Amino acid sequence: MRSCDVLIVGGGPAGSSAAWQLRRGGADVVVVDQEAFPRLKLCAGWITPEVVRDLQMDVASYPHRFMTFERLHVHLKGVHLRVPSVQHSIRRFEFDAWLLERSQAPVVKHAVRSIRRERGAYVVDDAFQCRYLIGAGGTRCPVYRTLFRATNPRASGLQTVTLEHEIPYDWQDPDCHLWFFEKKLPGYAWYVPKANGWLNVGIGGMADRMKKSGHDIKYHWSRFTRELDSKLAPSAQYEPSGYSYYLRGRVEVARIEDAFLTGDAAGLATRDMAEGIGPAVRSGMRAAQAILHDKPYELDDVTGSSLGGGFASRLLDWAMTRGAGA
Ligand SMILES: Cc1cc2nc3c(=O)[nH]c(=O)nc-3n(C[C@H](O)[C@H](O)[C@H](O)COP(=O)(O)OP(=O)(O)OC[C@H]3O[C@@H](n4cnc5c(N)ncnc54)[C@H](O)[C@@H]3O)c2cc1C
Repeated sequence: MRSCDVLIVGGGPAGSSAAWQLRRGGADVVVVDQEAFPRLKLCAGWITPEVVRDLQMDVASYPHRFMTFERLHVHLKGVHLRVPSVQHSIRRFEFDAWLLERSQAPVVKHAVRSIRRERGAYVVDDAFQCRYLIGAGGTRCPVYRTLFRATNPRASGLQTVTLEHEIPYDWQDPDCHLWFFEKKLPGYAWYVPKANGWLNVGIGGMADRMKKSGHDIKYHWSRFTRELDSKLAPSAQYEPSGYSYYLRGRVEVARIEDAFLTGDAAGLATRDMAEGIGPAVRSGMRAAQAILHDKPYELDDVTGSSLGGGFASRLLDWAMTRGAGA
């Protein structure tokens, strides 16, 4: 059995950010992930300037695709708004592997199935033993499932479903476009160019409301990609895949004894834009700091809104969630 101070389940942005901080603080940490990195992660790959700051990224020396947008094109009910806003795109395939490697934590490929508490330690699959356990395994995190589900049941009204595909594509429009609430979609569709000829196209919305509306996500996908074909991305070929995650509700308990919940495992994506990378990074860092400095694990500065919580943010939150789980 392998022993360590901190075992992190999941090597996505939450897990790698926790590992990075813990290693810098001198902790004995191991990351386990069921996938070998680089691995596919369905995601538009939009990151905010806050993420770049939190991760102390030196953009000039980042070795992979990185693009900056100076404005967003927002399409709402036939109105096209050009909103000045600096944002970035990366490819998750590259970004997550880079973050994990940068953390310098040992990474073991292992799919976690069982967790038990024994004499003040956590025993994972009879293969790992640790004092602290960080759940960073995304929506289906086994740490959530085993230790936190009873205290933090997920609000079905906050579940988003998505379809997306990232393809090599010689895009001509280098800006990011977002289409909100088209044809009663309770969410938005996106066109996110990546550096050096990649493009991410996707669609996401609130699962419950989509079910009630009578149009599933495949309907919205077909409609949206037909539109793209006639305008922004002619002749692109897609084979979309889906994934589901939760927007931020009341996170009643994010720590039980020495176990912590971070990122999508805790359901921390923002309520206005469904942004999950920033909250994953910040919560991973806060869990690490709680361990290193023996202080409370607090999510107060892990924001639940991407647009700053003002009027536009509250309106979008309401339009997406109708107040579910607040
Ligand atoms: C289609 C789509 C588009 C999105 N677009 C954006 C966007 O543009 N910007 C943004 O900020 N957010 C976006 N999000 C949300 C964002 O992708 C997530 O919120 C973010 O990845 C959460 O990071 P995480 O580290 O918590 O989990 P993840 O990135 O999901 O990482 C979890 C890791 O845990 C591992 N794991 C799971 N179970 C086990 C197990 N049993 N044993 C071992 N390992 C396990 C997985 O292999 C995975 O590597 C999008 C999501 C989707 C689905």
